[in-house]
Amino acid sequence: MELEIRVYPDPVLRKRAEPIPKITDEIRALADQMVETLVKRVGYGLAAPQVGVLKRLIVVDVEDELYMVANPEIVEAGEERVLGVEGCLSIPGVEAEVERAYRVRVRGLTMDGEEVEIEAEGLLARVFQHEIDHLDGVLFIDHLGRAKRLQLLKEYERLRHSPQARSQGKEKEREKEGVVI
Ligand SMILES: [Zn+2]
Repeated sequence: MELEIRVYPDPVLRKRAEPIPKITDEIRALADQMVETLVKRVGYGLAAPQVGVLKRLIVVDVEDELYMVANPEIVEAGEERVLGVEGCLSIPGVEAEVERAYRVRVRGLTMDGEEVEIEAEGLLARVFQHEIDHLDGVLFIDHLGRAKRLQLLKEYERLRHSPQARSQGKEKEREKEGVVI
């Protein structure tokens, strides 16, 4: 079942998600539905708050590797920081360059309840950082300077309130390469 993706300014996107004490069938089913939703919407990652569930669960699908991680945390981040263009399924139609660590080590639980550590770099590292931010109510626009953020939100509001601009925005989204996280 494809889940409804909450979009900005839905307040659920600003809340802190709760840790998952145990991996249950319910959590596994949620992860499966999030993957299904992610595949349909052609994104690289999805966090549970984006589908209205305040639990610390993310799914990441980058370069044919699929990760479903509960309680993910960044335990180590490399010093090197890089700029890359990001968008978000919860702020559709707009994108911006965001600075992130090039390399991170992520720890969490697999859907079997086993602890896992993932070494990620480049795009994969970017997606993990973006999704883990979602669990703390942080959005990619929060990493931008004030002027850039306001400009982006103005563009987003324009897209939201104009059906014509919205369909152009959707076209634009389809043309984008690998940035919608
Ligand atoms: Zn996002």
